[in-house]
Amino acid sequence: MIKGRVYIISGPSGSGKDTVMKKVFEREPNLAFSISSITRGMRPGEVEGEKYNFISRERFEEMIANDELLEHNVFVGNYYGTPKAPVLKCIENGQDMLIEVDVNGAVQIREKMPEVVSIFVLPPSLEVLKKRLTGRGTDAQEVIDKRLNEALREIACAKDYDYIVVNDEVNNAADRIMAIIRAEHAKTERSIHSYMELIDEN
Ligand code: ADP
Ligand code: 5GP
Repeated sequence: MIKGRVYIISGPSGSGKDTVMKKVFEREPNLAFSISSITRGMRPGEVEGEKYNFISRERFEEMIANDELLEHNVFVGNYYGTPKAPVLKCIENGQDMLIEVDVNGAVQIREKMPEVVSIFVLPPSLEVLKKRLTGRGTDAQEVIDKRLNEALREIACAKDYDYIVVNDEVNNAADRIMAIIRAEHAKTERSIHSYMELIDEN
């Protein structure tokens, strides 16, 4: 069986990753999402087990010690990590998986899985990013300031990604991500096995 592909998606907090990913999952229901384990508090509207498993620092440190994580990082004082087992199971079963990580997590995953396809979501401008972070209304001003500082550091890493997607308008950004997924599916190394008979005949 052909293994599933892993897509990593990063971008500064507030660039619109969640919003765009929701659209992508509506259009590509076979794509799996990696649920991260994190130690930050739940925001209003967040649901346990949907995007994140909200766990204690003690449990997170146990996961690190037991080598249960594909990658992990501290972001604005909290741990964020990708559990390894669901990712490996998914790709072994031939299903594609999308993993949202910050730029440090992306470096760790690329080291372990050089074949991953990486996508960086950029806001159209820093002004728009500030407006989106404030407009989301989920974080205190002090946290927003810290997230903006992180954003500048993260944007400098966009050059290390395979693709850059500007989230100017949600549907356009989702279209661009779908185009990347479709192009990856059509890559010769991935699809040639299915068409060998046709090619051999000529
Ligand atoms: P992230 O997951 O990158 O932290 P969110 O998806 O939570 O970002 O988006 C941050 C805020 O910006 C949300 O309030 C969201 O509704 C808004 N937003 C996202 N994408 C767009 C867009 N293309 N145009 C306008 N507002 C957007
Ligand atoms: P937020 O608190 O806004 O949900 O996420 C903060 C940052 O953590 C974002 O940059 C997001 O992409 C990143 N993030 C989310 N899940 C993970 C993860 O599993 N690992 C790492 N390293 N970063 C993550």
